[in-house]
Amino acid sequence: MSEACDIAVIGGGPAGAATAIRAARSGAKVMVFEKGSHGRDKICGDGLTPRAVAALDELKIPLDDAHLVDGLRMIAGKRERELPWSGGDRFPAHGAVWPRRRLDAALIDAAVEAGADVRFDVEAEPVFADDGSVSGVRTGSDTIDAGLVVAATGAPGKVARMLGAERDPNEPYGLAIRSYVDSPRHADRHIEACLTVKDEHGTWVPGYGWMFPCGDGTVNIGVGALSTMKGFKSLNLNHLLESYRALVRDSWEIGPNLERPRAWRLPMSSIKRHGRGWVAIGDAAGLVNPMNGEGIDYGLESGMLAADLFLADPHTAPAEYDRLIGERFDAFLQTGRRFAFLIGHPRLMRTGLRFAVGTDAVAKITLQVMGNLVDADTPGAAGRTLRLADRVLAIADPALRATRARA
Ligand SMILES: Cc1cc2nc3c(=O)[nH]c(=O)nc-3n(C[C@H](O)[C@H](O)[C@H](O)COP(=O)(O)OP(=O)(O)OC[C@H]3O[C@@H](n4cnc5c(N)ncnc54)[C@H](O)[C@@H]3O)c2cc1C
Repeated sequence: MSEACDIAVIGGGPAGAATAIRAARSGAKVMVFEKGSHGRDKICGDGLTPRAVAALDELKIPLDDAHLVDGLRMIAGKRERELPWSGGDRFPAHGAVWPRRRLDAALIDAAVEAGADVRFDVEAEPVFADDGSVSGVRTGSDTIDAGLVVAATGAPGKVARMLGAERDPNEPYGLAIRSYVDSPRHADRHIEACLTVKDEHGTWVPGYGWMFPCGDGTVNIGVGALSTMKGFKSLNLNHLLESYRALVRDSWEIGPNLERPRAWRLPMSSIKRHGRGWVAIGDAAGLVNPMNGEGIDYGLESGMLAADLFLADPHTAPAEYDRLIGERFDAFLQTGRRFAFLIGHPRLMRTGLRFAVGTDAVAKITLQVMGNLVDADTPGAAGRTLRLADRVLAIADPALRATRARA
């Protein structure tokens, strides 16, 4: 059987749904293939940065079902600093926590309402024409021709391998684990990040532990780590979560885990994110901030951009997409990856943390970074500081990478 559409999206997470909503609302014929069922969960911290809130606003997705938060509480050892999201022209002064089971359902429902043909429990893969371009998707024995195939498949797997869009093996990536707990502080208006987590041997871990209050009686508790630390391959995430849990047990008065802790990957690079007939968006394009592991906002933005460019000109869309994503994110993500190598060195990390949380001015910049509020267009102190930091990190980068194993 053969069908045809304008855009075939593989993956119905936030990135894929954003493409589908945007393109279908403009009248394009969109098909989405999601291997999970409707309402499937995604292992996540459920935190929405102000940047993500702005993207949801652009997509006209009401936040009624989400718990709004006013800022971030950063903890480093005994130091604690509570900072409000500042807001401004581009982003609102609030973020949110929205459990993924509900957020992703709201997004994919909006795609269906916009007219997209969403097929759940269907695994898809790209189909290649004789000239090497991607001409559509295959689902079992069915082939669907498409003007553009959008890989929105999350952390790289089979589809990424087929497209040559895997993560760069020389670049860092992350792993994170989460569960849910009951807490009387479930409606706290700040998300909390503890930047000083240690594994069961007392080794500093580049990453952070989080308490993200969901406002529904529960709190998302989790911890993430970067691959730049010594011994990363043998890091036991369950033990790491237990260590973090012990740290926050009293202050959050938490109960037992409400579900078995589950871990997943955080891709932070991609060898390729476009080709003839296809683009990769969201996690499939490695669009995760290495400094905080957040990627929902980038997924929504890249998803919308892919749709807009296809609607403007299907032929130039893939190359144009790659260029514009590069302009918007590449420099910042590169700084983040360099930073990941820096904090892979425990001594440098300790010094950095004293700076990050120690003074108001620096903490505010840290907040902007943690909120995904910085990119190529960021004016002011945060933008300038990040650009300066990148110049310094660029010089240190070869040494940091070379000394990684001995750290
Ligand atoms: C533990 C953890 C905590 C995190 N916390 C946060 C946070 O608090 N805030 C934040 O912004 N980010 C967070 N992230 C990152 C965030 O989860 C991702 O950036 C985000 O989910 C990316 O969205 P996506 O649509 O690109 O991919 P995904 O959400 O992974 O969606 C991909 C979809 O594609 C489907 N799929 C894959 N292959 C196929 C196929 N062949 N056919 C059909 N369907 C397919 C999958 O079933 C899945 O539904 C966290 C990540 C982890 C692991």
